[in-house]
Amino acid sequence: MKSRAAVAFGPGKPLEIVEIDVEPPRKGEVLIKITNTGVCHTDAFTLSGEDPEGIFPVVLGHEGAGVVEEVGDAITHVQVGDHVVLCGDSCGHCSNCHQGLPFYCKEFAERNLTGQRVDGSTCLSCNGEEMRGRFVGQSSFSTNVIASAPGVIKVPKDLPLELLGPLGCGLTTGVGTVMNALKPQPGSSIAIFGAGTVGLSAAMGARLTGCEKIIVIDVNPSRLEMALEIGATETINANEEDAVEKIQSLCNGGANYSVECTGVPEVVIQAVNCLTPPGWCAQVGVTPSGITVPLEMDQVVFGRGIRGVVMGEANVQNFVPYLAELFRAGRLPYDRFVKFYDFADINQAVHDSAGTGEVIKPILRMP
Ligand SMILES: [Zn+2]
Ligand SMILES: [Zn+2]
Repeated sequence: MKSRAAVAFGPGKPLEIVEIDVEPPRKGEVLIKITNTGVCHTDAFTLSGEDPEGIFPVVLGHEGAGVVEEVGDAITHVQVGDHVVLCGDSCGHCSNCHQGLPFYCKEFAERNLTGQRVDGSTCLSCNGEEMRGRFVGQSSFSTNVIASAPGVIKVPKDLPLELLGPLGCGLTTGVGTVMNALKPQPGSSIAIFGAGTVGLSAAMGARLTGCEKIIVIDVNPSRLEMALEIGATETINANEEDAVEKIQSLCNGGANYSVECTGVPEVVIQAVNCLTPPGWCAQVGVTPSGITVPLEMDQVVFGRGIRGVVMGEANVQNFVPYLAELFRAGRLPYDRFVKFYDFADINQAVHDSAGTGEVIKPILRMP
């Protein structure tokens, strides 16, 4: 079928909205009419060409929300007309998938970052030329997409679908990192570096798990204000104060946990050094490949650790509907930091999302 898609024809080039062809769904696949899609840093990162997995021409986008149009064979968990949020694809049968950790699927990269199915085929084409799709299992910068069963998640129809796409990446990553990976004891202290969607979601997750001190660090005053609005107890403007010293003084020696969302090497070091032992830093921010970070081993050996966390280590088929219910209950007020754009203004939305400016979570309205 024909679809309008924003195509990345090359690294660093503006996206171009063109007509493409989308195949009918094969066995285990679902065709979805996208109504809205969030724009995430990872889209801008892949578009920049800094990502070694860069694949062009490609349709990016990975916070899609929409309505099921057609289901392939062997699809039983959704039907035509269902409202769905899209997530990455996973194989469903490797040891990590069996443990409910689909984002550590042993086929994660080939299923989500190559733009192709595991058999090497693609589901998109343009003027008869093959085009890469299935970015994070979906390529949601398109009015119609094909996704595989594990990444298609049914959500309640009485919730505003236009807001739900970011549940599939930014919200799951932030809330899940705290709830599923760090699992803080109630009364803990946590320092969150970076007040974008992931950092603010981590702050909401910290509040939901009963953290007592929730400190958010950023350089943008309006983002820090937003952090206080959604549940942070203190904020630090890293341009004005030494974050590590301030955290140590606020938390009686250091924070029990930290979440690093910026991917900036100097900030990674701060996110480890601000901990009081035993303390864990969850590394969520993505850095260009080849980056190394010198950690003071004196700090690490005395009970401080860092570990990477992907997609909040969430079993997304359960976690996304759970987040949707938290949103309904008013306990995940991320709608306060969403800004809507028309699909035609996608390049502006990607630009706004990549910076550290006023716009925190752009959501596109699809035609
Ligand atoms: Zn993302
Ligand atoms: Zn797997």
